[in-house]
Formats: sequence, structure tokens, C-alpha cells
Amino acid sequence: MLKRLLLVLLASAASASAQSTAFGTKATANATVPAETAATAAATKGPSKAVEEEADDSVVITPFRSLTPPEAKTTRTFQLSKVNKLGFTETSKELLRLYSAFATQRIIDGSPAGSSKATGYLATVNYALLQDLGDNRFLAKAAWPASGPNEVLAAGADTMAILLLEKPAKVGDAGKLTGMHVGTVALLFTANYPPLTGKRLTIRREAFVECATLENSPAGLQKFVEAINAGAEMSATTDEQFSCKKCGGLGFTREAQKGQLVDKRIPCAECASSGKVIVSVETKFVP
Ligand SMILES: [Zn+2]
Repeated sequence: MLKRLLLVLLASAASASAQSTAFGTKATANATVPAETAATAAATKGPSKAVEEEADDSVVITPFRSLTPPEAKTTRTFQLSKVNKLGFTETSKELLRLYSAFATQRIIDGSPAGSSKATGYLATVNYALLQDLGDNRFLAKAAWPASGPNEVLAAGADTMAILLLEKPAKVGDAGKLTGMHVGTVALLFTANYPPLTGKRLTIRREAFVECATLENSPAGLQKFVEAINAGAEMSATTDEQFSCKKCGGLGFTREAQKGQLVDKRIPCAECASSGKVIVSVETKFVP
């Protein structure tokens, strides 16, 4: 289903970009060029008089920068059969916490499991629709929090974004949705909002696909545990705080000074002197 949504998002890009991988960085960066060039040509000269007189209201959306997929630095295993057993770190409290993360990282779809791993960062997006781009795609004024390790997806505040909504909507509608970031796209369109009304332009903006995540409920957890015990491969990615290895959690390293009793303290760059580092960890669940 998600693939279908992405296809819809990029449907109008088909003529401009012939690349097979929709999100290939190099291929897509180049793909925007012919689209822009063609548009400029049409706007200045136009292949024929008829085209020149007709306003070009087509909408072309091409991938510009691929999304940065959530990526874990380290992996670990959580064994369900060890939960709350003496001598093991697996606890029911930890399972609840990890399931909660898992639920927010899955997108409900028509797959046999009922949901799939989100391929981009999920964010709560507040929006006000600015222009209808067709096929449930909208240009919107939006706001969302930063997401991912080191805020890979920067926060948006009163930022224009491209949204692919689940249900029909109209310009002026405002609301809140769970959106999956699908990268930056180049949008070639004719603006119909002031002060740009009638202007044909290309803008590059973050794109989000509206989606629903799994419900974080005891019933959901039950199904999750059953699926793992039946052999399903599931994992959750979380940001975990660890003591900084470089400085041993002190926030500084010592350097002996010749002829001095006291060592020189050098602020630890690894953890910005906090003594702690945040590491993205993928936890794989096993029966
Ligand atoms: Zn450190």
C-alpha cells in the first residue's frame, strides 16, 4: 500500500525521470534538471503558439534528495523466553517500552502481517493546506518536530511541505497527521496563493505521506509476542543513553603536565563533556 502511495506521489514525475530507482540520489538529482529545463523552455518560447497561450498548470513532483532511513548503530537481541527470569536483563517493563517504540515505527498496511516497518522517520505534522496539487497531494504550511539520531530530519516550523493525504481535503483545511518522511522532492507547479499567484516555479520541500501506526495496546503487544513466537522477524530502534567510552563518563580526559601535580583536564569532544552518548540501537526480538 505504501508503495502505491509513493507511486501516486511521484506519478506525475514519470515523464521527467526515467530512472528505475525512484530514490537514487544521483539519478534523481539529475532528473530534476530536464524537468526544469523543459519548463523554462515552455515558459519562454514554447513549442507552438497554442502552448504559449495556454497556462501550464501541470504539477511535476520529482525526488530531489532521498530520505535518510532510520539507521541503528548497534544491534542487540531481546529474548522473550527470558523475560523476568533471574539473571537476565529482559524484563516485562523493558518489553513494554520496546513494544511502544515498535508500535510507533510500524505502518498499518495490507501486508500479511498487517503492518510494515516504516522506511522513513515518522512525525506528527501540523498543517494548513495551501494549494491542491491533485491526487490528494497538497502544498501545506507545516510544523513537525526534529526526528532521528542527531536530528537527521530537521524540525519544521511554519515550513512549506508536500503532503500526501489519505482522505480528500480542501485548501484551507488545517489539522494534524502522522506523516512518514519520504525525502525531499522538487515540485514544479503554478502557484495559486498570494503573492505568487500565477507564477510557475520549482521549489524543493520535505515530503510526507500520511499513515497510521500500530496501536500501542495490550492486545497489540499480545499479537506482537505471538507473531515473534511464530517466527516473525521484528525489531525496534531506540535511542539509548550510554556512558561515554572515551572519557569513561567523566566528560573530560586527563593529560599529565610535566612538572605539575595536577593533570590537565581536556573536555571530551566525543560526548560534548556530558559524559553520556546517545546511540541508536536496533533490538531484534527472538522467541
Ligand atoms: Zn566523553
